[in-house]
Amino acid sequence: MPEIQRRTSPTQKPIPPAKDLKFGQHFSDHWFWSKYSEGKGWFESRIEPYGPLALDPAASVFHYGQALFEGMKAFRRANGEIGIFRPEFNHSRMCDGAARLCLEAPPKELFMQGLKQLIQVDERWVPSDEGCSLYIRPTLIGTEGFLGVRPSREYVFFILLSPAAAYYSGGNQTVKIWVEDKALRAAPGGLGATKAGANYAASLQAGLEAKRRGYAQVLWLDVQHEGIEEVGTMNVFFVLKDEIVTPALNGSILPGCMRDSALRLLREQGAKVSERRITISEVAERHARGELLEAFGTGTAAVISPIGELNLRGNTMVIHGHEPGPVAQNLQQTLIGIQRGTVADKFGWMKTLEQL
Ligand SMILES: *Cc1c(COP(=O)(O)O)cnc(C)c1O
Repeated sequence: MPEIQRRTSPTQKPIPPAKDLKFGQHFSDHWFWSKYSEGKGWFESRIEPYGPLALDPAASVFHYGQALFEGMKAFRRANGEIGIFRPEFNHSRMCDGAARLCLEAPPKELFMQGLKQLIQVDERWVPSDEGCSLYIRPTLIGTEGFLGVRPSREYVFFILLSPAAAYYSGGNQTVKIWVEDKALRAAPGGLGATKAGANYAASLQAGLEAKRRGYAQVLWLDVQHEGIEEVGTMNVFFVLKDEIVTPALNGSILPGCMRDSALRLLREQGAKVSERRITISEVAERHARGELLEAFGTGTAAVISPIGELNLRGNTMVIHGHEPGPVAQNLQQTLIGIQRGTVADKFGWMKTLEQL
């Protein structure tokens, strides 16, 4: 691994107070980046003042979308230490995605050392306010300037840090979701199981439409417009009368870290949890029978996002009276507690900087 060169910023930006933090709008003083070239391997790594990245306009990322990202969080723990939630999960998912997109994944040591040293340099950006965290955005792009269609032979891996407040202020809110029965986010054999930027490009139009109709996000269905896949940019769970269901990982669903964490916590608590195909017809039917008790999304940014209403072709299904249900609330509190260090971390999910 190349030694990480360091050029620190002569000035320090003011850190916005927690109440003014908007997701993804503020960045720390520095960023980390590393270069790869075929034959040379990863040959240069730097921590530098946050600023623009100069690339050849013919770089493959601009033309053929060779781009992959991750999303993870660091927390100021109750004892003042910094803890990072399951960073190995994110590195391993980046490796899987890189294989699918023919990108060169950063080795684990480079990923972890870059992360560790960047957070050390920008430690003051890790918020200590209740509900706040430091959102971490590792990104991998093809940078070779060449218009032929084949995988790039040069890559840049970089990490950005962005302080984040609790996703939904107020904490007790539910979201209204539009069931999307035309557009698809991903299809079998495609990129759906990777955090490719391209999946987001595919999802923007339906998300915008949903907002115009007064809904926060869409519920994505499969190619048959039947099987439920995800909710917005989150995995989705349904609490039915007799079991808790999340769609099985079928190749077009993103394997979320929070999905995995929620599954483990629920199973540990003895809940009956199924990873299986669940259709929108089944959800509508169970709702009509009063057997849909709760629905919620899981993801790093919001942790747990309870769904208060689904709109299927103009028919609304109100869930748990537009209020967060007990399963969602319990998971939210447990996960946030583990992240903050106030709930026992039985699975060893939290890593200190020294452990990276
Ligand atoms: C990132 C992401 C998720 C959630 O993954 P987490 O690891 O839990 O944050 C779910 N669906 C999509 C499409 C995503 O991009």
